[in-house]
Amino acid sequence: MAACIFCKIIRGEIPSMKIFESEKTLAFLDIGPLAKGHSLIIPKFHGAKLHDVPDEHLAEIISVAKRIAVAQGVEDYNILQNNGRIAHQVVDHVHFHMIPKPNEKEGLGISWPTK
Ligand code: IMP
Repeated sequence: MAACIFCKIIRGEIPSMKIFESEKTLAFLDIGPLAKGHSLIIPKFHGAKLHDVPDEHLAEIISVAKRIAVAQGVEDYNILQNNGRIAHQVVDHVHFHMIPKPNEKEGLGISWPTK
């Protein structure tokens, strides 16, 4: 879709920090990370909401999220996917957030604000 920001990332029209790419799937770092290593995993097929995307274009998503967690060495993380404004969706191209939760002992080198 011409105006979609994630379709522009897929086409290479705007830059991204790519983590993984295959025929149907792309993963890249989130521009406004909620934690170090926060990434987005998206189908290359454009659909605004989950039910707009055929299953075959979603098949790899969870395994890519899992591989990112393994590669990042994180044990604690959230995988989130928002549909619609009330559910806090901002970008209308299906995407899954992979948000590492730093371990207090080993962590990911994040220092949380105290105020
Ligand atoms: P949503 O609220 O689930 O739609 O989340 C959209 C996410 O896309 C947010 O976490 C944004 O920081 C992220 N985002 C928006 N534009 C870009 C971009 O150009 N590159 C990477 N991430 C982006």
